[in-house]
Amino acid sequence: MSQGQLFPSLDVLAPTAQPRTHAAKVWLPKRVVFTPDALEQEFEQEFGQQILQRVTAHGLEVELLKSNRLTGVRGEDARDTYRRAKSTLAVVCAPPSALRLQPTPPSADWQMNLAEGCPAHCQYCYLAGSLAGPPVVKVFANLPQLLRNTAAYERPDRPVSFEVSCYTDVLGIEHLTGSLAECIRYYGEREGATLRFVSKFDQVNSLMGLPHNGRTRARISLNAEAAVRGLEGGTASVEARLQALRKLALPPEQGGGGYPVGVVLAPIMPLPGWQQQYRTLLDRLAATLDFPCDLTLECITHRFTPGSKEVLLQWYPNTSLDFSETARAVKRSKFGGTKFVYQPDDMRTLKKFFQQEWAQRFPQAPLLYWT
Ligand code: SF4
Repeated sequence: MSQGQLFPSLDVLAPTAQPRTHAAKVWLPKRVVFTPDALEQEFEQEFGQQILQRVTAHGLEVELLKSNRLTGVRGEDARDTYRRAKSTLAVVCAPPSALRLQPTPPSADWQMNLAEGCPAHCQYCYLAGSLAGPPVVKVFANLPQLLRNTAAYERPDRPVSFEVSCYTDVLGIEHLTGSLAECIRYYGEREGATLRFVSKFDQVNSLMGLPHNGRTRARISLNAEAAVRGLEGGTASVEARLQALRKLALPPEQGGGGYPVGVVLAPIMPLPGWQQQYRTLLDRLAATLDFPCDLTLECITHRFTPGSKEVLLQWYPNTSLDFSETARAVKRSKFGGTKFVYQPDDMRTLKKFFQQEWAQRFPQAPLLYWT
């Protein structure tokens, strides 16, 4: 694979000398709205009220809507709508359709969404094209009901896994919601279930000391330094994420959370000098996790759909990501959808590289899947 063949405007993604170390900025939305349902429904009142207390404790003003319909988010054009929506937190009740869970292979058995939308600004964001309408961050006040509902999906023969990160970044909003902690506590008591989450944020202090009973796998999403710097606006630096992962994995007696942990390498891209960029990342990871821990790896290569391309180019018109279909292979889903992925030869080259480099550094940690 010729380096950077998929990136015509490469400078921003070239190797960078000095790693950044900043934590993610704590997200404080400009507008916070609650629907009547979020505060009034019989079962969910308490959790909705808890979110209200957290939001006001952060000094944020709250708008109580008269109906359950959110308005006033659309701006003058797509960029304006994006700006308004990304700085809006809506606390709502998930609709009854949320009680019918969707499978989410290969990462877990089922999706269990505690929110939809994310405060960060990743130029390849996989939410673009999957969530309809302006990208408002919607948090579900009826989380206790959603959690109880998942018991019907448990099986007697093996633990069933639930993924809470399909449509949001759970740590990016946790300070305002407490939703992830609620899930960790819930699944900590369910012998037939496990919880999985992944984040590009680093605020993990509130997860220390929770009774997870080893049933939550806490994963951090990582990428080459230049990709994080150039493409993942509003997230934590690689260094901050590594330190968050260390803290999650360390045993409680050493000040950590004692969680089973994981690394999600995503999206993997043949950046300029990609072998060296990713080797450096894996070296830093190995230096950070310098103690025995329960670690897994998931590898996801960059892909896009016609729908996500259209939305992302409206949101990030100056992106350096390459969205030309001609350099890609087409993958069709069983539902007739189209994805553009790397060519088979390029995919093989990437996969072999990551399998080898990972096994050299982490022989005990399984690669769960490559996609
Ligand atoms: S952190 Fe994840 S969900 Fe949020 S913008 Fe980035 S890719 Fe999208």
